[in-house]
Amino acid sequence: MKKQNRNLLIIILLVIIGILYIQSFKQPNPPPNKNHSQSMPTELNPIVKKRTNQLIQQAAKKGITVVITDDFRSAKDQDQLYQKGRTVSGNIVTNAKGGESYHNYGLAVDFALKTPSGKIIWDMQYDGNKNGKADWNEVVDLAKNLGFTWGGDWPKFKDYPHLQMNFGLSITDLQNGARPDASSSVADSY
Ligand SMILES: [Zn+2]
Repeated sequence: MKKQNRNLLIIILLVIIGILYIQSFKQPNPPPNKNHSQSMPTELNPIVKKRTNQLIQQAAKKGITVVITDDFRSAKDQDQLYQKGRTVSGNIVTNAKGGESYHNYGLAVDFALKTPSGKIIWDMQYDGNKNGKADWNEVVDLAKNLGFTWGGDWPKFKDYPHLQMNFGLSITDLQNGARPDASSSVADSY
């Protein structure tokens, strides 16, 4: 090999080593976002929707008309509801601010009963189908069999019209961006 060629080879090698050296000081790529950029849902979760429809159908077979009075609720709507009984007249209906309710993630519904005359009632003793059992409790039992948790079972702030599915996620999980797996066979096995 000619001396000139050898010198050129050495220069090229030095340049390559130099580039690799500089490269080693560059920051590595940031780690992928850990699911924290999940946007807020805008509608009822499809599984909750399906179970709610099943609840309405199953109740109808028992002669009970279930009415869903509220399902998905935006964080803004939730904040407004929170003011009821606080800065706005009326009774306190929730302890949850925007983002603190399962309604805000499309995972809860509120129900009421409808009488044959078309009146919407929240009477927990009403026995419209005259089978000796309160219609309200019958609906709650059906809902629990479908995988819902009932707000009437909560130890502190009892929310009798409230039914929710949490898919193993706490409000903190949801606030941190976790969402139910829509394809979850576990969730769909209820
Ligand atoms: Zn509710």
